[in-house]
Amino acid sequence: MPLQQKIQSIAQDRHTDYFGIADLTPYHNRIPFEGGMDITTYPRAISIGITMFHDIVDQLPNRKQRAVCIAYKHHCYDVINVRLDNVISELSSEIQHAGHRVYPIPASKRVNDKTISAVFSHKMAAHLSGLGWIGKSCLLITPDRGPRVRWATLLTDAPLSATGTAIPDQCGECRKCVDICPVAAFTGRSFHDSESRELRYNALKCQTYFRKMQKNNEWALCGMCVYVCPNGQRNS
Ligand code: SF4
Ligand code: SF4
Repeated sequence: MPLQQKIQSIAQDRHTDYFGIADLTPYHNRIPFEGGMDITTYPRAISIGITMFHDIVDQLPNRKQRAVCIAYKHHCYDVINVRLDNVISELSSEIQHAGHRVYPIPASKRVNDKTISAVFSHKMAAHLSGLGWIGKSCLLITPDRGPRVRWATLLTDAPLSATGTAIPDQCGECRKCVDICPVAAFTGRSFHDSESRELRYNALKCQTYFRKMQKNNEWALCGMCVYVCPNGQRNS
């Protein structure tokens, strides 16, 4: 079986909901890479995603309740991240055994506290492989499940074919995520790949909000930017 077919089949067998391959070469000079490595040695990114559970996400307006907070953090965050990391690890071994380089990116690990960013943007990998657009919330918005998806990424030099290209912004006049954010972390500006994230999103405001909740011994959870997006809601 060809390598591309084999890894896609593994991802599907492990119940991932999204699979994409991005050609990074046109974006090498534009994608911030925080790991101290040279991104140009990885011409492709594999992106996988798992959908969060609607019944839990729909409870986020009640996020101050202990049961809601625990359910979201456990089943929409920790457990899905482990599932994603396991699949990415398995795909990495498969590709490395076939003689190619791989660099698996952890599903949710920050490497830069100043910019509050990971070693590589999972959202960017999913975006460039044609799985969605970057919304005003700076989240990856899929056409069918909106931002209700968690992502993981694997960089590689394996000769795989891109599954798609970047989907243009489809937020239109919507500002629901901008208006609902309790700390006004979003500016409302639409995504453009030549602009820095800071023009659209103040990650420090979000982080400070969470730290304040923790300091006050509250259940620290928000996710209203995920909850409110009309794309991907159960009845959309
Ligand atoms: S998680 Fe909450 S505070 Fe943070 S950006 Fe989203 S809506 Fe704003
Ligand atoms: S809530 Fe509206 S503006 Fe925000 S990401 Fe979703 S569609 Fe775009």
